[in-house]
Amino acid sequence: MTRFIFITGGVVSSLGKGLASAALGALLQARGFSVRLRKLDPYLNVDPGTMSPFEHGEVFVTDDGAETDLDLGHYERFTGVAARKTDSVSSGRIYSNVLEKERRGDYLGKTIQVIPHVTDEIKDFIAIGENEVDFMLCEIGGTVGDIEGLPFFEAIRQFSQDKPRGQCIFMHLTLLPWIKASGELKTKPTQHSVKELRSIGIAPDILVCRSEGPIPDKERAKLALFCNVRPEAVIAAQDLSTIYDAPLAYHREGLDQAVLDAFQISPAPRPELSRWEDVSDRVHHPEGEVRVAIVGKYTQLEDAYKSIAEALIHGGMANRVKVKIEWVDAETFDTKDPAPYLEGFHAILVPGGFGERGTEGKIKAAQFARERKVPYLGICLGMQMAVIEAARNVAGVATAGSEEFDHEADKKRFEPVVYHLKEWVQGNYTVRRTTDDDKGGTMRLGAYTAVLAEGSRVAQVYGASQIEERHRHRYEVDIKYREKLEAAGLCFSGMSPDGRLPEIVEWSDHPWFIGVQFHPELKSKPFAPHPLFADFVRAAKETSRLV
Ligand code: GLN
Repeated sequence: MTRFIFITGGVVSSLGKGLASAALGALLQARGFSVRLRKLDPYLNVDPGTMSPFEHGEVFVTDDGAETDLDLGHYERFTGVAARKTDSVSSGRIYSNVLEKERRGDYLGKTIQVIPHVTDEIKDFIAIGENEVDFMLCEIGGTVGDIEGLPFFEAIRQFSQDKPRGQCIFMHLTLLPWIKASGELKTKPTQHSVKELRSIGIAPDILVCRSEGPIPDKERAKLALFCNVRPEAVIAAQDLSTIYDAPLAYHREGLDQAVLDAFQISPAPRPELSRWEDVSDRVHHPEGEVRVAIVGKYTQLEDAYKSIAEALIHGGMANRVKVKIEWVDAETFDTKDPAPYLEGFHAILVPGGFGERGTEGKIKAAQFARERKVPYLGICLGMQMAVIEAARNVAGVATAGSEEFDHEADKKRFEPVVYHLKEWVQGNYTVRRTTDDDKGGTMRLGAYTAVLAEGSRVAQVYGASQIEERHRHRYEVDIKYREKLEAAGLCFSGMSPDGRLPEIVEWSDHPWFIGVQFHPELKSKPFAPHPLFADFVRAAKETSRLV
């Protein structure tokens, strides 16, 4: 029997509900239970795939090709459970499913309403794969009281009623503001938020309260009394210096115990926390520091590159160094010498991205890294830019460019070294695309295999001859230029199994220069750093010793 934990938020958004859910998932695993985490988002986009990173942060891609919320990244990083398409849903998707059924005539002439049709659709989603795991954790995006969130709150209320007593619990995350002038931690916003929740029929079993410091007994008792929860189920979530302390911190505060108590699971299995103790030890006791530049476009919003930043931290853990990330806006040196901006870094990473803005700066960053022998990791667009740089400056294709960019003005002179991918093999069939396709969900998405060249650096880094990594791209390096580029020294060290799509390139005569068409950052975990990131940081550490 699967037990369900519904996680809601109140008072303000951005309290770290995703992180709390992920940490709880990790703690339940540490007690020997299997878990799956799901995110239900009230916005109307069908998925976040079409949203700007400035709006929504990074788009997290699953193996089965779903474009999802970045919280799914936290879930995977903390539990190691690979997220699936069926772990993320939005109002947009729910309504689109309901309307599709209505058009098909599935509702047999009924009037379609939020209750029961929309709420049923949400409940069906929650129940997918029921009984596969011991605990299903479902996080509801937004805060209680948001108009668009109401159907989700109503659906989880109904869901808990449909199940036998004791199979579902509710955990509510709120904020206890600290009023400096009076030196008090205020409980009133939490009381109001719980009142709002109870007015729609949901009584929380556990309150997780974000606060700057500990919760004094007096405030804890007050919260318990006014919000109708047990005092031990009021959990303090104090600000932490690193997210990787969250499982241990929540454990100390008694979160996992409170959850097991709420389900009346007794005796509670003892937790095995050595994995998190090791992770925490590695974060807090580095033996050095490396400086890595991320040369991107969405640098004002660090969430836009969330998984990359985390994967670099994991790479640091693997090498026992602190990775100091500095965000460099590629556009600043589109038409300038990048040296003043890039000198002094121990490694350079150019991440994924869309559109032309800043790409000349990224090309310059790749050139700088190649010429100065600085370790370089190019991810997706970062690989494409490294290839264009190689074509222009080493292989003699002076007008190399990408079809993604507007080259109307010099169409005749521009050579599409990176072209719009219209056809590729997925499993047993061929996917076809045109330039007029919808933008949503039409990229080459999800896990694809790459075959690694024997003796290449990547084969050595992965310790394998074949890998599976997650993709999210519409453009691709044209195989037509392989010969010219390889003659110039840029080795195509990873290819799709049919040999048509370049997946990895590397400079053979460079200490560490790798470009990958996929997103390795999505699979890195603190307790299992991704080999590419671990080795990239190792190379950075080497550079730091030389300077
Ligand atoms: N814009 C490029 C493409 O679609 C790169 C995508 C990415 O970096 N994720 O191919």
